[in-house]
Amino acid sequence: MRYFDGLLPELKQIQYIIDTHQEFIHLEKIATVNINQSELPIYAISLGNQSSEAPVITFVGGVHGLERIGTQVVISFLETLLGRIKWDKGLKHLLSQVRVNFIPLLNPVGMALHKRSNFNSVDLMRNSPTESHEKTAFLVGGHRISPIIPWYRGPEDSDMETESKALVNFIKTNCFQSPFSLVLDCHSGFGLRDRLWFPYAKSKLEPIPHIGEIYHLRDLLFQTYPHQNYVFEPQSKHYLCHGDLWDHLYDLSLEHTGTFLPLTLEMGSWRWVKKNPLQVLKSLGLFHPMKPHRVKRVLRSHLILMDFLMSATASYQNWLEDGKTLNMAQRATRKWYDN
Ligand SMILES: [Zn+2]
Repeated sequence: MRYFDGLLPELKQIQYIIDTHQEFIHLEKIATVNINQSELPIYAISLGNQSSEAPVITFVGGVHGLERIGTQVVISFLETLLGRIKWDKGLKHLLSQVRVNFIPLLNPVGMALHKRSNFNSVDLMRNSPTESHEKTAFLVGGHRISPIIPWYRGPEDSDMETESKALVNFIKTNCFQSPFSLVLDCHSGFGLRDRLWFPYAKSKLEPIPHIGEIYHLRDLLFQTYPHQNYVFEPQSKHYLCHGDLWDHLYDLSLEHTGTFLPLTLEMGSWRWVKKNPLQVLKSLGLFHPMKPHRVKRVLRSHLILMDFLMSATASYQNWLEDGKTLNMAQRATRKWYDN
């Protein structure tokens, strides 16, 4: 591990947070992954109500090793909560009603090696058994041609990768028993705007059964923060892919009575590039704001969203039912699926 300290400041930071806040957190090592005879841990850190009846929100980062900013955004919200937990009565009360999970770095090997994929060159977000039956994006949509080409799904008929399995198992055991569960998985590298994506990634034609609830959640966000700047839409608006882990988990969740809504935050990195074109030349360039002031701005700017989602999870009983109405589903379908 020592050897990787310099390559993985994020993991060092996570370990420091764990060591210094043991009294407030529940810690689980959900897997270890090997690289050059070293073992790197994948941690899940949990705050708040640990009962399976409590609603739960899970923040995920570092699925793609090049997208360091996702991990940093998740760590920064964890730090904010841990900073407040000692003195903030309001937060303490909120955490008695909700569980807040963090998996800040799912793919530590990818991050150490400056790779999108894991050690086996598998793109974890193309690694689930979910198949799209529509026309997926060429290569980007996931393929089994060769691990040399990015977006590789892994060999045919193989088991999921360690990292993917760890995430799937954690969500299944920690979230599926809850009456309501949200996820925010933080990525970067797509477009100019910050986007919130929801499943499916496998289909343009088929809306998820919870489309009304998603639409209502979007409404709540936009009413609560009229000056926010997110585009909120199905991932399939942009490209279709095989093997998306959230498609897979969402479909599995339908066998349970609780509601499970996974969201992906895609931070629009092209504007960082626009302001600093030379950063394209660096390996992280397309996925990470290089200037320190820009990193700070990104870390700050998503805290409100994360705080909103945490509150929406804790108070799900006050809005979720309204999302189940036919009217809400119709508005959602009109907005996103009627061309
Ligand atoms: Zn990504």
